[in-house]
Amino acid sequence: MASATETLSNFIDGEPVASAGETEAVLNPATGEEMARAPISTPEDVDRAVRAARRAFDGWSATTPAQRAQALLAIADLIDEHGAEIARAEALNAGKPIEAVTADEIPVMADNLRFFAGAARCLEGRSAGEYMEGYTSFTRREPVGVIAQVTPWNYPLMMAIWKFAPALAAGNTVVLKPAETTPITTVRLAELAAEVLPKGVLNIVTGPGEPTGEALINHPDVDMLALTGSVDTGKHFAHAAADTLKRVHLELGGKAPVLVFDDVGLEDALATIAGTGYYNAGQDCTAATRVLAAGEVYDDVVSGLVEQAQGLVIGDTLAPGTTLGPVNSARQRERVEGFLARRPDRAEIVTGGKAPDRPGFYLEPTVVAGLEQDDEMVQREIFGPVITVQRFTDEGQAIAWANATRYGLASSVWTRDVGRALRVSRALRFGCVWINDHIPLVSEMPHGGFKESGYGKDLSIYGVEDYTVVKHVMANIA
Ligand code: NAD
Repeated sequence: MASATETLSNFIDGEPVASAGETEAVLNPATGEEMARAPISTPEDVDRAVRAARRAFDGWSATTPAQRAQALLAIADLIDEHGAEIARAEALNAGKPIEAVTADEIPVMADNLRFFAGAARCLEGRSAGEYMEGYTSFTRREPVGVIAQVTPWNYPLMMAIWKFAPALAAGNTVVLKPAETTPITTVRLAELAAEVLPKGVLNIVTGPGEPTGEALINHPDVDMLALTGSVDTGKHFAHAAADTLKRVHLELGGKAPVLVFDDVGLEDALATIAGTGYYNAGQDCTAATRVLAAGEVYDDVVSGLVEQAQGLVIGDTLAPGTTLGPVNSARQRERVEGFLARRPDRAEIVTGGKAPDRPGFYLEPTVVAGLEQDDEMVQREIFGPVITVQRFTDEGQAIAWANATRYGLASSVWTRDVGRALRVSRALRFGCVWINDHIPLVSEMPHGGFKESGYGKDLSIYGVEDYTVVKHVMANIA
């Protein structure tokens, strides 16, 4: 695992490979101090990785589903075995409270891998038969080829697993670029996975969007691009793919509306909403950060969220009891502070809004009230520990406002009225609607957006199918 002096290597063709390029600092967001250095991989490094993935493709795509499942199960076991080491590195590099990584993320990542292992064995062609006299037809699902995958910094290792596990399950080979601020655990997992994967099946190149990411997404021998990242980067990927018609899979930003009606038990609801709005310092594409409250309960919602925010424990990511860590980088903190500084005069920061007096990239948990639908803080993903609250007058207005942003990833509706819960869940234009909860995910169910939150699904059998192409085979049997 990376130490203060360690320089990471890329992981290509089954082994660590030093880059010919420069290196950049990888920081601990809780202190701002350098914890390792990582290659700014060059186009030559990327080409080497893509060629390794291409060489590995024929062999890996010819393995049986059972063999691929065995490999993914073995990687899940490695996550369990090395869970403490991985959790510590992820907490330090991403700025997460270690207790949350250990309790929530490590078991989920192992479960995701085990699900994809099972899913590898369940892919099916949906039709086989005689559709024309004298002919038998059937459909096959085949891997796409070499997949370029690019991941964000908010859940560095979990997002890597959501990307490479379904791709490998379907028989593809992968070159994955982690976010430049959080490469450590992804490189480490590739090292561990090399114990069970053939050479070249999973390759990692570190570095920023330019030059590393650009070289990867524009490489002529890459068949498909998959991104978890921001909307703007997603649009850039779609443009980059257009010339060669590479397939594109995009899990992008979100701005989850949380519709709170006047008939819910507010205490429990607000504990969950704040718990998930501030989880991971609000750096979650599904975070419960855009609360729409019925007029009758608006004041209680604001004061209840303030109480929850003030109950969070800001602390070092390795300290027991810490519930709010830093945001991931100085740049991200400046971005969040920019939203707060540009708010209209009528908007009130009811609690928080400042950087606490300590090293690292911390921000106080913040509640902003008095916002209107067209305000920037309502329309744009903030991606920090900031919850906004708006007051609605009736169900129709709540639905209209919930839908009136460019995003469509996740949402929730809070009401005891079953009919209203079902009506609203149907009307919300989001890839996921929770009823009386927010954020729980399961490996079996699809995760992905509508509208500018992207297209394609992570998790579930749909996630594996997205990494396949359908072939029709038609035999003349006359
Ligand atoms: P980002 O788009 O800035 O970066 C994401 C990744 O893209 C990074 O690895 C980055 O280096 C790379 N990248 C940037 N420009 C590139 C280029 N020109 N070519 C190739 N690669 C390039 O996003 P971020 O700030 O790292 O992550 C936060 C975003 O990710 C948020 O918008 C969040 O909502 C989204 N996200 C979405 C999901 C989801 O499942 N929908 C999950 C987690 C995060």
